Amino acid sequence: MRVLVTGGAGFLGSHLCDLLLDRGDSVVCLDDLSSGRVSNIEHLGSSPRFSFVEACVLDPIDVPGPFDGVVHLASPASPPDYLSKPIFTLRTGSEGTRNALEFAQRESARFILASTSEVYGDPLIHPQPEHYWGNVNPAGPRSVYDEAKRYAEALTTGYRTSCGVDTGIVRIFNTFGPRMRPDDGRVVSSFIDQALRCAPLTVFGDGSQTRSLCYVDDLVRGIAAMLDSSEPGPINLGNPVELTVHEIAELVRDLV
Ligand code: UDP
Repeated sequence: MRVLVTGGAGFLGSHLCDLLLDRGDSVVCLDDLSSGRVSNIEHLGSSPRFSFVEACVLDPIDVPGPFDGVVHLASPASPPDYLSKPIFTLRTGSEGTRNALEFAQRESARFILASTSEVYGDPLIHPQPEHYWGNVNPAGPRSVYDEAKRYAEALTTGYRTSCGVDTGIVRIFNTFGPRMRPDDGRVVSSFIDQALRCAPLTVFGDGSQTRSLCYVDDLVRGIAAMLDSSEPGPINLGNPVELTVHEIAELVRDLV
C-alpha cells in the first residue's frame, strides 16, 4: 500500500510509519512539526519508501498520488498541548479533518480517523463500549479537544454516507512508549520523568481515577488492522486492563 500519515512525526504517527514501512508499504508522512519532532522520523530518512512533507492540515493537502490509504492522526493530543492552543485544536479537528477527507476522496483511498476516548467525555459508564454516546460538556475544560474529535467523527461519517469514502474510525485510549515527550504532561511520561529525577510523583486528586494504558506497538497494530479492513467503526483501541493512577505511580516508582 501507499499510505499518507498525517501527524506522522508525532508519538503515535512515527510508530505507525515504522510498522507500515517494516511490512513493505510506502509512506508519506505529513506533519507541521507543531508537536511532532523530526527526531521521531530521522531514522526513516534512508528508506526509499519513506518521504516527509512539512505541511499543515489546515491547508489543502497537495501531495502527488496515488494513495491507497490515509491515516489522519494530525492534532494536538496531550492536554497541555491542546489547552494551550484551543482554536488551533478545533480547527485541526474540523478544517484539518475535512482536508484529509477531501484528499482521501480524491485518491479513492481508505481513510482512518484517529478519534479518542475523550469523545466519551466524563463517562457515566465504565468501561465505555462503542455504543455509549458519552457525557460531554461542550463548554467544559477539555471541550476544545473532545468536541473537535466528536465533530471529526461526524464529518467522517458524513463523507462515508454521502461521498462514498471508505472510512474507519478508531477511538484511541491512553498510550505509552518510546518517543513520548518527557514534558508531554501525560501521566506515564510525567511519572517516569519525575521518578528519574528523584522528584515526588504528582498524583492529581486522590489517585483513585482509572486509566487503561496501551503499549504503542500494540496500538499501532490496531490502527494498521483497521486500515486493512473495511470496518467503519468506531472501534475502541486500547488495553482493557484498568489501573488507578495511584497504581500507575507505584508501578513507575518500583520499576525506576
Ligand atoms: N495525572 C496525574 N499526574 C500527572 C499527570 C496526570 O495524576 O502528572 C492523572 C490525571 O489527572 C488523569 C490521569 O492521570 O486522571 C491521566 O491523565 P493524562 O493527562 O495522562 O491522560 P487523560 O486524562 O487524557 O486520560
